[in-house]
Amino acid sequence: MEKPKYIFLNDEIVPWEDAKVHVSTAAFKFGTAVFEGLRGYWNEQHQQMYLFQMEAHMQRLQFSQKFMRFDRIFDAAYVTEKTIELLRANEFRATVHSMTTVFVDGFGGPTVCGPVGLAITAGVRAEPPLLSDGCTAQVSSWQRVPDNAMPMRVKCNANYQNGRLAGLQALADGYDTAILLNSRGKVSEGPGMCFFMLRDGVVSTPHTSSDILESITRSTVLELLREAGIETHERDIDRSELAAAEEAFFCGTAWEVTPVTAIDRLKVGGGEVGPMVRELQDRFFAIAKGESPDHPEWRTPVYELS
Ligand code: PMP
Repeated sequence: MEKPKYIFLNDEIVPWEDAKVHVSTAAFKFGTAVFEGLRGYWNEQHQQMYLFQMEAHMQRLQFSQKFMRFDRIFDAAYVTEKTIELLRANEFRATVHSMTTVFVDGFGGPTVCGPVGLAITAGVRAEPPLLSDGCTAQVSSWQRVPDNAMPMRVKCNANYQNGRLAGLQALADGYDTAILLNSRGKVSEGPGMCFFMLRDGVVSTPHTSSDILESITRSTVLELLREAGIETHERDIDRSELAAAEEAFFCGTAWEVTPVTAIDRLKVGGGEVGPMVRELQDRFFAIAKGESPDHPEWRTPVYELS
């Protein structure tokens, strides 16, 4: 990611170099922070950037802050306003990935709940080659953290060490990424993305009690598939079913809709990116970028056009 000019930190936009947090904060010491990753899609023809599903991201951020019992909760309107101000200040004219982090800026032990800080970063990211070529996945020997230990439903920074272990193991073993199973041995999700598979004309994805993040892209994709007349199931997926998938993909804000072409070195279908995933990608990007007028409620324009 390119280094942006400005970052938003604690009520002001500051130069990138000046966005610093003390090493004694609970955020630094214990990972006491929650975050959202979101995308601003650039539309060249409209000369406009569209934040994708901003309202849903803000709702989830509210939930994460409440769940973690932070002293202060930044409301959705304020965070949206500041995100737009930051994107404008950086004068981005390309698709960006932005991260909103609410963190415990106070000193003390793991139960400290304030004061609470807000940081927003954004930068241009090159399109990953996996998006067109697809990726390979390893079913990890690391188990997804169960909800009654540390809920993945809450987008807490500390949660991400679980997926990091799985991701690093997958890379060390020559795969692009991992699929984690949950404590019941069922398919959960990737380190930072949800999983879908096509089998016998039906698209299935693990249900929301599978120790997954309640992904916004997952909900988006379910809606787009249903609109396309494709039957969808949210259910338990067994590990052995992965070998029977005709097509598969990961989805998430960062991963968008990324095809999976092999799992544990067994080809998914013929090992090529399939037509269901390609069509879904086309539809997803057309809507996210505003090339299609459908679902305007999912797009928040960033720039004021004269
Ligand atoms: N699962 C995890 C663990 C994630 O971190 C993400 C990325 N936020 C996702 C799934 C996908 O969620 P979303 O579509 O809301 O980005």
